[in-house]
Amino acid sequence: MDQKFFLKTLVETESPSQDKAAVDRVGAIVAEQARKLGGQVELISNQETGNHVLVRFASSKGMGGMDKGNKPILLLCHMDTVFPLGTLSKMPFREAGGKIFGAGILDMKSGIVIGLSAIEDARQRGMTRPVTLLCTSDEEIGSETSRTWIESLARESALVLVLEPAMPDGSLKTWRKGVGDFTVNVKGRAAHAGGAHEMGRNAIEEMAHQVIAIQKLTDYGRQTTLNVGVIRGGTVSNVVPEESEIVVDVRVMQPGEWERLEEEMKNLKPVLEGTSIEVSGSLNRPPMPFNDLMNATFEKAKAIATRIGMDLNAGGTGGGSDANFVAPSGIPVLDGLGAVWDEAHSDREFIYADSLFERSQLV
Ligand SMILES: [Zn+2]
Repeated sequence: MDQKFFLKTLVETESPSQDKAAVDRVGAIVAEQARKLGGQVELISNQETGNHVLVRFASSKGMGGMDKGNKPILLLCHMDTVFPLGTLSKMPFREAGGKIFGAGILDMKSGIVIGLSAIEDARQRGMTRPVTLLCTSDEEIGSETSRTWIESLARESALVLVLEPAMPDGSLKTWRKGVGDFTVNVKGRAAHAGGAHEMGRNAIEEMAHQVIAIQKLTDYGRQTTLNVGVIRGGTVSNVVPEESEIVVDVRVMQPGEWERLEEEMKNLKPVLEGTSIEVSGSLNRPPMPFNDLMNATFEKAKAIATRIGMDLNAGGTGGGSDANFVAPSGIPVLDGLGAVWDEAHSDREFIYADSLFERSQLV
């Protein structure tokens, strides 16, 4: 497989999560490449988001049913990106000075290339285990339709490798915070700001009190953060606002922290008489802690890396990925096996060309 040509094809086929037809085009390209490498492809169809691509590769001795009891290694990739159609014209695929640029190249079209290259290489050498590859369509929008597939495929696997980008220095992502959100609605009472100010109950004023209280639930010592990231309320300046709403991003690492926050949020009390508060929210991705199992899994990876002349370190991030869904199952999981990069989330973002080969060797 020509890694760069395949990568160019994937990058030049834009695939924002919300555009099913676009993501399906990438799915068709991935499926075709996987079939060429000898995989059995199954398309998992979805109504609103793109289809997931599930590929099973037998081990070298597995053709005659020998893979019974020989648990597979699961490779996890996603095909959707955060970039809307047309971004490619501003961030085209190009290579210069050992760097490769292009919309979506980092997160994570390069990961798909690295995963398939690793499989191709392993098959040429003789694979001792079967490999399952799942390329999903909705990771950037919460993995709603892929989560049950990820969880059930992980449970039947010996190890899960997630091809998300590495840390900028090449470290693996060995811990990730859990990610959740709360929506808070405040109801007041509308009144004319000139004629009946005293009759109104200002929902924005009430919400201001709540915003301060919620921000204070942040506890850096416990690695817990809350961010009131969106606020809405009111209609026009001469009416006392009847409603206000906020959306709060929550990150947790320690056991019990989400439950503590749920309790605190449920107990929020209005400060202004005549207003009311309603809270809803959920933990979308559970935390992936650096526990004993992660430590043991990472040490094995580090030893393998040393054998191929690579110095591998353990890093982590407050951002979530599909690895978070695997962590609670107790199945060994490693994340951040994808490309090495810099200047993420800008139009200068790039991956180091050499990392395509290096990371596929590592996988
Ligand atoms: Zn990603």
